[in-house]
Parts: sequence; C-alpha cells; structure tokens
Amino acid sequence: MTHPCATDCAIESAQPRPRRSAQARIVWGSRVVTVGGDAPVRVQSMTNTDTVDVIGTAIQVKELALAGSEVVRITVNTPEAAQAVPHVREQLDRMGIDTPLVGDFHYNGHTLLTEYPACAEALSKYRINPGNVGKGDKHDRQFSQMIEAAVRWNKPVRIGVNWGSLDQELLAQMMDDNSCRAQPWQAKQVMYEALISSALQSAERAKSLGMAHEQIILSCKVSGVQDLVAVYRELAKRTDHPLHLGLTEAGMGTKGTVASSVALAILLQEGIGDTIRVSLTPQPGESRTQEVVIASEILQALGLRIFVPSVTACPGCGRTTSATFQELAKQIDDFLRLQMPVWRHQYPGVEQLKVAVMGCIVNGPGESKHADIGISLPGTGEAPAAPVFIDGEKRLTLRGEGIAREFQVLVENYIQQRFGAKQPA
Ligand code: SF4
Repeated sequence: MTHPCATDCAIESAQPRPRRSAQARIVWGSRVVTVGGDAPVRVQSMTNTDTVDVIGTAIQVKELALAGSEVVRITVNTPEAAQAVPHVREQLDRMGIDTPLVGDFHYNGHTLLTEYPACAEALSKYRINPGNVGKGDKHDRQFSQMIEAAVRWNKPVRIGVNWGSLDQELLAQMMDDNSCRAQPWQAKQVMYEALISSALQSAERAKSLGMAHEQIILSCKVSGVQDLVAVYRELAKRTDHPLHLGLTEAGMGTKGTVASSVALAILLQEGIGDTIRVSLTPQPGESRTQEVVIASEILQALGLRIFVPSVTACPGCGRTTSATFQELAKQIDDFLRLQMPVWRHQYPGVEQLKVAVMGCIVNGPGESKHADIGISLPGTGEAPAAPVFIDGEKRLTLRGEGIAREFQVLVENYIQQRFGAKQPA
C-alpha cells in the first residue's frame, strides 16, 4: 500500500475566502480607518453610557479603544445628546484618543444632524436605520435630510437594517406581492428579502442624493445564527458595498459569545464581512470591553488579524491536582493584554508572540517547544520542577513558590530582547 506521503497531498489548507468590496474611509483628524477593499476586518463597539454624560462616555470610549475597538458608536437620541457629542470628541482628543465616533440615530436623526451642525461635524460616520426614519411621506424626506448632512460633512454612512425595526410598510408591500405569487414564498423568505431590499433600496436612494458608492456601508442584522448566515450570503451576492456584520441582541455570557462566534466565523470564512461587532449584553459588573475582546479573538482565531500574543494553555486533567497552571495561564494572559496598549508602540510585532503554559510532562515540553517561550509545570507525581523552553530549546528550570512571578519576568525579558528597539551597531 502506498503511504499517503508518497502521493500528491490532496488536503488543501483552509483559508478565509477573499471578497471584493468597495472601500469606505472613516476619518477623524489624521486617523483614517478604511473599511472593505483590502483593509483588514475592523472591530467596532458601542457605548452604553448616556451620551449627555460627557466624561462617562469619553472614558468608556477610551476603554473600548484601548481594548482594540477601531471605531466606537455612541447613541445620539436627543438634542442634549447631540449637544454633548462635540464635547465628547474634544475630551477624547485631549486624552489622546483619535478613534472615530459613529452616531447612532433613530427617529429624529434628520433633525439632530440639521440643527446641531457641531454634532454632525464631530462624528465620523452616521448610522441610519431605514426602518426608523419616519413613516409615509416623511420616510423619504427625513432619510434624504440625513443623507444630505452626510454629503455636506463628507461622512460615510452605515445603512443599518435590523430585524427588530424593519420598515413595516416595505414588509407589508412585499407580503402583499408574495400572496399574488403562483407559489408564495415562506414568510421567513419574505422577511429575508425585505431586509435585503430595505438596505439595497436605501443605498440606491442615498446615491441618487449624492452619496459616493464606497462611502455606504450596509448591514442587515438579525438575532438567529442561521438567519444571519442566509441573509448575508444573499446580500454579499447582490452588492459590493462594505458590509458590517453582527448578530443583533446576541444575549449574555456564554450564549452570546458562542452565538456571535459561530455566526461571524461562518460568514468571515466565506469572505463576508468588512467590519464586525459582537452585541453582547454585559453581565452585571462586567466591563463593556468584553465585546471588543471577543470580536478580536474571533478574528485572531480565524487567522484574519493578530491583536495580542497568544497563550496556549492545556485544559488540565487528572494528571494535575493543583490549579497552579490555570492561575499562571490566566496571569500571563491578563498581563499581556494589559500591557498591549503600550507594547503595541514600544515593541512592534509583539502581537506575534506565542506563549505556552502547560500542566504536565505529557504535552508540556512538546507544546512549549512550539511556542516562543513556554513552561511545562509539574503534574501529580512529577518532580517539583518547571522547565522553561525559549525558541524551542530548554533553557532553565524554575522551582519553588515564585514560579509564576519568575516566568512573567522571563516573558518580559524575552519581549524586550526580541521586539525592543534595535541598538545601532
Ligand atoms: S498537558 Fe498534561 S495536564 Fe495538560 S491536559 Fe495534557 S495530560 Fe493533562
């Protein structure tokens, strides 16, 4: 029998498929965040503060930005909020945060963008929900006013359709049309079509009002994984506008994380999605930045982006009787994340670092050798010694109570030596 290695290998490596889209530019000062085209998939987030609370909102935007959010959306729902927006922007500029702000408008965006020009100017993008811009003859007029503001201030827009606020007149019309079909579609298919039509028709209308094609980003958010996949596959076929991807109302904790990860991974692997948000309901006391961490991890796990050094840790099993390696893995992971806002500038390329923290001799030395720096902690019955591997070689052995601290110092030293500024010869 011929060994498989002796024949041409038929296993292809898995890669996300590329998708060609137009490229939008979200700008604040000298900061330009490109979305679509050859740009990396972007991470977005949204505050949950009252925008009128200028300091509270600016602090949360800063936290989200430092966690890795490249664009942050804020609620603009009242005249007071619109008046606060330029002050939030000024506060951020004073704090050295140039992350572009997106205004989230519903119902009264046409009025706020017209009557508060400083708000319109301070925002870098407007989110328009065509289901919430007014009914009847007001719909087109108020939508037009928002697009006119975007054209006047040279801002991109996201036409963000949402399952929960779908244009009811459009849906009713499509249901009526469907009932006249010889073979009517299922109600769900009509809903999908209504979501996509609302986005595409609104984009066409925006272009007829002077918006540049590439400055229109589209989204059609739903809360079910299979619904999202079905809608975005079809949307991506019909348009080259950049697409914002996210499962709306994903939920809390594990459920929200898993549902978002599964839905986004399927689509991103197919090359669908130019910017993402994980709409997670924070657990009581949980930081808002968790949604940014998860979005970044999704992109990193798919190999689409690299944000932070990776820590490989084994799950532990009956060969480990202490929680030492779990604690050490968490400490190292937390430490690396905490340092990243500074290290990103101080140690270019540090995000490529691979660290391993393993629980026993079975896979510990092997996995540690694959990492840049790794430690294999002693399992039950093993000698109380933890060999450390650097660049694939065993370099030293740590013992005693201070293993965690000593390993952290070794990681820090490794980073300084490998990624620190090169000394002139
Ligand atoms: S490395 Fe050791 S402790 Fe960790 S899962 Fe494997 S056998 Fe268990």
